[in-house]
Amino acid sequence: MIRKNLEEVRENINKAILKSGREAEDVCLIAVSKTKPVELLLEAYEAGVRDFGENKVQELTDKYEKLPKDIRWHMIGHLQTNKVKYIVDKAYLIHSVDSVKLAKEISKEAVKKGLVCRILLEVNVADEDSKFGFSCEDVLTSIEEIAGLEGIRVAGLMTVAPYVEDPEENRPVFRKLKQLSVDITRKNIDNVSMDILSMGMSGDYQVAIEEGAKYVRVGTSIFGERNYSINKEK
Ligand SMILES: *Cc1c(COP(=O)(O)O)cnc(C)c1O
Repeated sequence: MIRKNLEEVRENINKAILKSGREAEDVCLIAVSKTKPVELLLEAYEAGVRDFGENKVQELTDKYEKLPKDIRWHMIGHLQTNKVKYIVDKAYLIHSVDSVKLAKEISKEAVKKGLVCRILLEVNVADEDSKFGFSCEDVLTSIEEIAGLEGIRVAGLMTVAPYVEDPEENRPVFRKLKQLSVDITRKNIDNVSMDILSMGMSGDYQVAIEEGAKYVRVGTSIFGERNYSINKEK
């Protein structure tokens, strides 16, 4: 089931790569495994997946302990400052840095552990009240302060686009994130690269690739619908 879903997603990714004239190495699939049991992650692992995305610290660290060590764990969910210490040395990339305060905490913990933590700045491109992230303007004003922090490397931008019926509706959102990355690159800030755009989910990853995504974060199309009811009852 998962193997078959993965085949389909990979095929769609390849189509989008061909359509946009990009290189296959430029795009990487992150299997978003939040709420899913390790058995299913192992199935995906056996089908070649090495990049997994989680949105909760506890879940990421539990799965980190149980699964093979060559997995790259991507933290994609809102991160509370008091939990940073548990994941700075486990996350391959933190996609969801949405405040200067959080960046400072990551810096502090990374320095303590003697490592450099790669981060993306999350941008709320569509300005939705329900979403975390910097506004486009705030990224531009905050990025130099963040880039100046020790133990951190800004590697790009991330966005969670609105939920839409037609993926084409999100094309302008992806385009805007790309444009923002171009504007930042032009500023030539030390310790900042804009190599990575993390954008596109099950409903719209092909459009995101056409607009320059490096990482697409796909959950439902690989693992099926998520069931949150068990947790909600607690
Ligand atoms: C859950 C989640 C995804 C995956 O969403 P699907 O629609 O299931 O593909 C991607 N990005 C983030 C930040 C998420 O929280």
